Amino acid sequence: MTLAFFDPQRHSQLVVDASPTGLGAVLAQKQDCGEWAPIAFASRTLTPTEQRYSQIEREAIAIHWGCRHFHLYLYGNSFSVVTDHKPLLPLFKGSSSKPPPRIEKWILQLQEYHFTLTYQPGTKNPADFLSRHAHPATSKEIEEAQDTEEYVRLVVERARPPPIPLSEVVTATKLDECLQLAIAATRTGEWRPLQRPDSFRTQQAQACLHALFNVRQELSVSEEGCLLRGLRLVMPASLTNRVVSLAHGAHQWIVKSKARLRNKIWFPGLDKLVEDTIQKCIVCQASGSPDHPAPIITEQGPTAPWQKVSANFGHLPDGSHMVIVVDDYSRYPEVEVVQSTSAQTVIPKFEKLMATHGFFGEIHTDNGPPFNSHEWEEFLASTNTKHRCITPRWPQANGEVESLVITRPKRTDQLFDKATSVVRAGGRCGTGVLLSTDGPFQNGDSGSPAQMQTLACG
Ligand SMILES: [Zn+2]
Repeated sequence: MTLAFFDPQRHSQLVVDASPTGLGAVLAQKQDCGEWAPIAFASRTLTPTEQRYSQIEREAIAIHWGCRHFHLYLYGNSFSVVTDHKPLLPLFKGSSSKPPPRIEKWILQLQEYHFTLTYQPGTKNPADFLSRHAHPATSKEIEEAQDTEEYVRLVVERARPPPIPLSEVVTATKLDECLQLAIAATRTGEWRPLQRPDSFRTQQAQACLHALFNVRQELSVSEEGCLLRGLRLVMPASLTNRVVSLAHGAHQWIVKSKARLRNKIWFPGLDKLVEDTIQKCIVCQASGSPDHPAPIITEQGPTAPWQKVSANFGHLPDGSHMVIVVDDYSRYPEVEVVQSTSAQTVIPKFEKLMATHGFFGEIHTDNGPPFNSHEWEEFLASTNTKHRCITPRWPQANGEVESLVITRPKRTDQLFDKATSVVRAGGRCGTGVLLSTDGPFQNGDSGSPAQMQTLACG
């Protein structure tokens, strides 16, 4: 086979392949006769860590490495990349794909190239031979592989529930029959033998593996041996109850508890376990909303942060109190600790909040002291603030926005419990409430309370 000269005017094609031990790439260009002529060949061995990658990861790194290796030829031109691994196509196609962290990193780095990925069955792949007889990797390539592992470590660290040490997750994963089978299948790409019922000791492991099989394209294995689904950590069965009770620490209801978990971790049967836990939780059941609340007439919600706020008090075991003010728009809570609930003590706190966030157009309270005092009325008049009183312990009367926030008294009680424990532990009250209760998931997809404010302002 003769090599052709590179011509920037011609269409280039990069054919890549990965074997269990190496990567191969062939750069070719279409000639006038319509034939593809090779321009250059390249190969490199995989590092021991890379050899433990899943098959899809090895095929993806072949694309990443091939493009980088032939950067001088490919950068700035559109070209096509040929792979013999079909499952890669959807991952490279659109933003709706959920690739494992390593592939995600490579896809991001490949954004500077303009290429289309196409599939060709492996039998015709000229890069296959190269990948099986590869040149040793250079020190730069080894360094890059280490960078990728750093990133995966970061993803695992971020996904791990803070109270559970990584070593515990690793050990529990090692002892989990289902996860071990899934890790082995992810590395080899061979799931078929595992679908035979006799490959399991328990029925539970079989059901678990079936769920993992359905998301197999999103799975990858970290260097320590943790299983990841996309950027989320797959929890071994022995830790799932603990993780759910941690996420349910502030007695959030089903949707919020699930959202808290889904953001960072996953395991087969997550939804059902959360539902069961909450059904069994006495505090949640006692404070749940009535089965058939009367229909309510909702009022117009605020259109910007800090236009309308709701205020309430919480009481701490040492006799001090918390003034809790929540922005109805972003649901961002501010908490101030005061020694008394007198108007003289409380009003300066409101002044401080107004100095920070601007004048509130409207404050909602239950009209208990000091919100029924003369000083409070004067303060409202001086700041041109409207005061709306809601029915105590019936927040629904105040419209939908309010029913979701701090004025929901039963929910507030739980919030106070949590805040109290944070204060006892020496933490900052406001931060504790924010982290444990209203967290970044209060608004579902619309972002955290802080993001809601910045987005609205910026
Ligand atoms: Zn609960």
